[in-house]
Amino acid sequence: MTDEHHGTEPPSEAALRIKAMEQVLIEKGLLEAGAVDTIVDIFEHQLGPKNGARVVARAWSDEAYHQRLMTDATAAILELGYSGFDGEYMVVCENTAEVHNVTVCTLCSCYPWPTLGLPPMWYKTAAYRSRVVIEPREVLKEFGLTIADDVEVRVWDSNNELRYLVLPMRPAGTDGWSEEQLAKLVTRDSMIGTGLPLTPEQLAAQEASA
Ligand code: FE
Repeated sequence: MTDEHHGTEPPSEAALRIKAMEQVLIEKGLLEAGAVDTIVDIFEHQLGPKNGARVVARAWSDEAYHQRLMTDATAAILELGYSGFDGEYMVVCENTAEVHNVTVCTLCSCYPWPTLGLPPMWYKTAAYRSRVVIEPREVLKEFGLTIADDVEVRVWDSNNELRYLVLPMRPAGTDGWSEEQLAKLVTRDSMIGTGLPLTPEQLAAQEASA
């Protein structure tokens, strides 16, 4: 048992199996000690929707950046330091008053890791993957998001080469907000398309209850 294991329960069977596999790979010289820890650290601390939120907030604040993001998302996202790890080729889909975008991977669970981190469980389910392409409005309603009938819903199917990020519309009442403030409004689901950014009122309520 390791030093950082404070409880009295033994590690889960899955954790033990992973440790055992890691040990075998290290002994066979297939894996460098520490490599797995480095990878776990990247997933826990360096990837995640906070990165995507910075991209969105920059696009909301800086029209030149917005243009670059729409013409070459991969390069524009790299400007903020995010690339690699399944985000090599990025396309940004912009929500407007006429179009609402939502992303899926119908085959498996392709997802833009550098900007959004690891996908939520529901993103990987057969139900989401099959239904969102057939009845997107119904699926979005189940997420609490009703899209007006006069707004077109576009579904983007990710694959091994292309990953999508939704650029949500900037919430009203945010004139003069800094990029840092704006980024707090950007939720993970708003960048998948199954949600909207927070309103200033929702953010204030969230911060008051924190
Ligand atoms: Fe996939």
